[in-house]
Amino acid sequence: MPETFKAILISRDEDKNQTVEVTSLSEADLMEGDVTVAVEATTVNYKDGLAITGKAPVVRRWPLVPGIDFAGTVLSSDHPDWRKGDKVILNGWGVGEVHYGAYAGRARVSGDWLVPLPDGISTHDAMAVGTAGYTAMLCVMALERHGVLPQRGPVVVTGAAGGVGSVAVSIMSGLGYHVVASTGRSAEAAYLHELGAAEVIEREELSGPARPLGKERWAGGIDSVGSHTLANVLSMTAYGGAVAACGLAGGMDLPASVAPFILRGVSLLGVDSVMAPKELRIEAWRRIASDLDLGKLSALSRTIGFDDITEAARDIVEGRIRGRVVVDM
Ligand code: NDP
Repeated sequence: MPETFKAILISRDEDKNQTVEVTSLSEADLMEGDVTVAVEATTVNYKDGLAITGKAPVVRRWPLVPGIDFAGTVLSSDHPDWRKGDKVILNGWGVGEVHYGAYAGRARVSGDWLVPLPDGISTHDAMAVGTAGYTAMLCVMALERHGVLPQRGPVVVTGAAGGVGSVAVSIMSGLGYHVVASTGRSAEAAYLHELGAAEVIEREELSGPARPLGKERWAGGIDSVGSHTLANVLSMTAYGGAVAACGLAGGMDLPASVAPFILRGVSLLGVDSVMAPKELRIEAWRRIASDLDLGKLSALSRTIGFDDITEAARDIVEGRIRGRVVVDM
């Protein structure tokens, strides 16, 4: 009998009704790839929430094992870069969207998609960071490349109590930025101060229709919300500043004017983690290992079991998750 492992499987019927079940798979059921990994930790990202609830067309192949990121140990490899026993991380590349993903005991993927687990962090830590945190670091690096450094002035982080937001607040405060954290959950103000936010502002301040130009409040920011929020953040960005946009938790539209761009030279920096080139990923994970305080990482994450994934998926799309959720496999 082949060895089996638990997996979540999303299927859909002829009428496109989606079902989610916990099932048993064996390695023979996995998709093509040249590296097989024992998944030790995974996480529940906003995108995983959308996939499991079916609220947005994240899944593009049925049936599918969801889960866009994992960390684990290589069990077997035909790829020149990886050997049995190597500790690896995977983020994105369509895993959990078109390729069987993390919510299974094992994953078979292309070795080109993997990055080495940096020294000094565990597979559990890596998933406390997860795709949300790695994206936050990509945003920080984009701002740095644009010259938005701590001495340029405050930075704003929207959706601050969420996954991207919590890691962004932690990293940027650690780097010496004056972080203004915007949240719709005022009860989380103490949590955000604990992560290093210098100021906490109400989400409502940024959620109405944006004026073309507002008071210059920050040198830049990281936005995971989109829509009116991003438009307001841009309109309040100081001359020559930049905003890294990575999310759409508040909407996919951008009801903004060109005024911040053409009158203040503000830049909008798009950040994608899914297809980001390997060098950028390795640099982001190196920076996470060196710049993110592991004490803050435990403050912003909690651990759940495999059987709790579906409920956490529902919670994250309802905006009920604080920080990051790690799934211990
Ligand atoms: P979370 O759900 O953990 O965080 C999102 C936060 O946004 C919430 O916690 C909440 O923060 C805020 N929010 C939610 N709904 C609204 C709303 N209607 N209006 C204003 N604010 C709202 O998700 P993640 O941090 O994991 O992901 C955030 C976004 O980033 C998602 O859209 C996700 O798809 C995207 N993303 C993009 C990536 C990329 O490669 N570009 C990679 C990873 C994520 P609060 O309660 O503090 O207000």
